[in-house]
Amino acid sequence: MDNKENLLVALGGNALIRKGQVGTIEEQFENLQTPIRQIARLSSNYRIIITHGNGPQVGNLLLQQECCENVPRLPLEILVAQTQGQIGYMIESTLDSELMALGTHDQKPLVSLISYVVVDENDPAFNNPSKPIGPFFPQEIAKTLPYPSVKLEKGYRRVVASPRPITIVEKNEIKNLIEMDFIVICCGGGGIPVIREGRAFSGVDAVIDKDLASARLALEVGVDIFLIATDVAGAAVNYGEPSQRFLRGVRASEASEYLAAGHFPPGSMQPKIEAAMEFIRGGGKRAMITSIEAIEEALAGRAGTEVLADEG
Ligand code: ADP
Ligand code: MG
Repeated sequence: MDNKENLLVALGGNALIRKGQVGTIEEQFENLQTPIRQIARLSSNYRIIITHGNGPQVGNLLLQQECCENVPRLPLEILVAQTQGQIGYMIESTLDSELMALGTHDQKPLVSLISYVVVDENDPAFNNPSKPIGPFFPQEIAKTLPYPSVKLEKGYRRVVASPRPITIVEKNEIKNLIEMDFIVICCGGGGIPVIREGRAFSGVDAVIDKDLASARLALEVGVDIFLIATDVAGAAVNYGEPSQRFLRGVRASEASEYLAAGHFPPGSMQPKIEAAMEFIRGGGKRAMITSIEAIEEALAGRAGTEVLADEG
């Protein structure tokens, strides 16, 4: 076995659908080229795992279900599985053509895995569903829905629990595959949430944050570098204000102070910072948050926010 480092790249939903786009398949394939071209180049020097979000895709599936009375509605776990297949296929085929263009296609087998992530049935998140998903409804309809909803600016939206990821069911398979130099695409949409029932697993109606699931996976398979790619240059303090300042290197303890001071909101920058901190505190070497365009630059230390270990 060679001594290449293991790199996990977590792609945000915006790697496929950018803000303001409708999200046609053509748009999604085109957007994917930006991160995937970089990942293809990096695959000569690193063993690679790719994880990805699925917010807009699962939202569209939910909306399609609402538009059709003729077929039975599918539970969320099934929709998450569908998006893993759909996005896995899109990433794989884009990667395949980029590797072919580099001429390294023959040495790089690819695989997308349907992935399950174990959550705790006693996770307090189940008593307090907080993650809005899917279409917006007017109040009259929201009242008739078979699940809880929350009032937002554009209308009512279904809310689901977002429990913490405990362990990735396929961690050993993923580890073996990257050791064989496969590029592995997994944990799409944070994984299909399951709870243990004796020796078996059963799916639950919930969504797991993809950044937190990726950090778990990274620690469980011994990743060296954990990189979160999104639609901003990194993590900023005073984000959106005139005094906004993007952080370059930030100690984990300093990041947790900024977190406590409210600089990183839940559902967007908070899980990324928490994921990076968890990885670094769990013994990972490097953790960074950067833009989809600057994956290689961030690895080279020239872009993004790197969360650093506290001095011991
Ligand atoms: P992804 O799909 O990649 O997970 P998210 O939308 O969940 O992306 O998170 C990225 C978003 O976080 C950015 O588009 C930005 O608007 C928002 N954000 C909120 N607070 C901050 C902050 N302090 N620094 C940078 N971005 C922030
Ligand atoms: Mg996100």
